[in-house]
Amino acid sequence: MPASLSHKPYRVGRSRTGLGLFATKPIKKGTKIIRYFGPLLDSKKKDEDAIENKYLFELTNRWTIDGSIRENVARYINHACRPNAESDVKPRKRKVFIRAIKDIEPGDEINYDYGTDYFKAYLKPIGCKCDACEKKRKKKRAEARAERLRLKEKAERKAKREAEKLAETRARQRKANAKKVAKANGKAPNGKAPNGKAPNGKAGNGKTLNGKALNGKHLNGHTLTAAAGKRVVPSKRGAARVLQA
Ligand SMILES: [Zn+2]
Repeated sequence: MPASLSHKPYRVGRSRTGLGLFATKPIKKGTKIIRYFGPLLDSKKKDEDAIENKYLFELTNRWTIDGSIRENVARYINHACRPNAESDVKPRKRKVFIRAIKDIEPGDEINYDYGTDYFKAYLKPIGCKCDACEKKRKKKRAEARAERLRLKEKAERKAKREAEKLAETRARQRKANAKKVAKANGKAPNGKAPNGKAPNGKAGNGKTLNGKALNGKHLNGHTLTAAAGKRVVPSKRGAARVLQA
C-alpha cells in the first residue's frame, strides 16, 4: 500500500460476499469515511442513460454517479440492512460521502444501506448476505432444527408407548395361551390340582388343612394382616409365620 494511503482508516479485504471495506482504525460516529465518486451520467443523454452496472448511484432524476471506476474504493463497501454507515448525498454539489452512523472498531466491515430499489433488484433475488439477514436465517434454521427435534421426540415417545402397549397385549396373550395349554394338560395354571387341593396340601377352598383360613383370619376371629399382603407389625409376625408354616 502506498504511504499516501496508509493514513486512511480502511482497507479492502475479503468479506462474506467477495471483497469489502474494513476499518483499520477506530472511526467515530458521524465521521466522513470516504467519498463515493465517478463520472456523472446525464439521463438526458441517451448513451449515458443507457449505461447499466451495479455501481450507479442516483443523485437526482437527472444525475447519476457511475461508481464502477477502479479509483472509487467506496464501491467495495457492501450493503447491510443494519449498517454502521450511511450514504450522505449532496445533490446540489453532486457529491456522495459515506459517513459513520456508529462508532466503528478496527476490523469491522464498513456497510451502508443501498436502498430499497437496489435491494429489490439485486439482493432479494439471491438472498441478502448481510450480518442481520444471516443472523435472521441462522435463527430460523435453529428454530426449524428445534421444531424437527421436538417432532422427532414426540414420534419416539409415541412409538415407545405403542411398543409397550403391544408388549402388554402379547404378554396377556401368552398368559391366556399358557392357561389353555395347562388346561389341556389337566393342571390349573396356578399350580393347584383341579381337584381343589393345592399341591402343598392346603385346601383350595381357602382353609388350611389345620383349620386356619387363607383370607387373613384365623378361624377364631384374629386378623392376620400379613396374609392380605400388608406389612406386619412386629408383634403379629409370629402369627403370620404360623400361617406360612
Ligand atoms: Zn440484509
